[in-house]
Amino acid sequence: MLIEEFKKDFPSLIIKENEPLSLYTYTKTGGPADILVFPKTTEEVNDVVQWVKNEKLPLTVLGNASNLIVKDGGIRGVVMILTEMKQIKIEKKKIIVQSGARLIDTSYAAYEAELTGLEFACGIPGSIGGAVYMNAGAYDGEVSEVIESVTVLTREGELKTFKNQELEFSYRHSRIQEIQDIVLEVVFQLKKGQSTDIKVRMEELTFLRESKQPLEYPSCGSVFKRPAGYFTGKLIQEAGLQGKIWGGAQISMKHAGFIVNINQATATDYIELIDHIQQVIFEKNKIKLVPEVRIIGEELLVVSHFKEKKAL
Ligand code: FAD
Repeated sequence: MLIEEFKKDFPSLIIKENEPLSLYTYTKTGGPADILVFPKTTEEVNDVVQWVKNEKLPLTVLGNASNLIVKDGGIRGVVMILTEMKQIKIEKKKIIVQSGARLIDTSYAAYEAELTGLEFACGIPGSIGGAVYMNAGAYDGEVSEVIESVTVLTREGELKTFKNQELEFSYRHSRIQEIQDIVLEVVFQLKKGQSTDIKVRMEELTFLRESKQPLEYPSCGSVFKRPAGYFTGKLIQEAGLQGKIWGGAQISMKHAGFIVNINQATATDYIELIDHIQQVIFEKNKIKLVPEVRIIGEELLVVSHFKEKKAL
């Protein structure tokens, strides 16, 4: 059987079979991954990429799963979570970070080294890889403003380093979304700062985030991108949708741009509520809300690559 071959080929790799991804996503929803792996080194990432390619299986790469809705049928093939690759190195005014490190930890490492430029990121719960993919940002800052270069592994197994300009960053977008390379390492170029100023700014932003966002519930952050000239939360509020409950999911009472998991929500609850919001806002305002959150995976009726699965 395929899974046994896989385990034999990678004796030191952390491998889980048929693992519910709800254990890892920030929404606490999502079906199982056929095979879930946690590589610890670039070599292990490369080995998995080669194996998956030879076996002609799909490969999905995740970071901290804070911007994801994985559908209830889960993900076929191999899912790779990179959070075991989390080294952060400081070299003068540069920070060299592996893709699985948390953006929050990187922001605090910069503060400890008296480097300024990453204060805006002190509350964004993603990994560095996910932050590059999404061009994560908050409070007038975006990671693209401080990235010098990004090292990736292509799906063909080639290592490449891109300069900032080559990644075509824009609002919640980078070229990685089209080319699907795997982000391995990022070099941030920061400036020397005063540690008291950096600390004050981080405390200010943490206070703002805690007072405005429903951090006490599972969520995926802002569900939709900001439409030019509008605030999504305000549009949803003005449409009378704030507080709406759909299954176990609810449009947050604290911030209408968030959908929170209040009672064992499923991914289907999230997806249907997103559709509903889009429909209402389009009917009312003729604005097409575009999800910022990535919706991936399969509906419940699927056949696993690894074993026969009955329709659920
Ligand atoms: P994931 O959710 O794991 O993945 C997102 C996408 O990135 C997926 O398509 C995945 O395939 C891809 N990806 C992940 N890692 C890699 C890699 N190494 N190589 C290639 N592709 C990869 N976002 C903001 O921008 N600003 C905010 O202020 C903000 N606040 C948030 C607050 C809360 C409470 C929550 C839950 C989320 C918030 N987010 C915010 C969303 C989220 O944290 C960011 O989008 C973050 O950058 C996603 O990183 P991740 O590692 O969790 O990515």
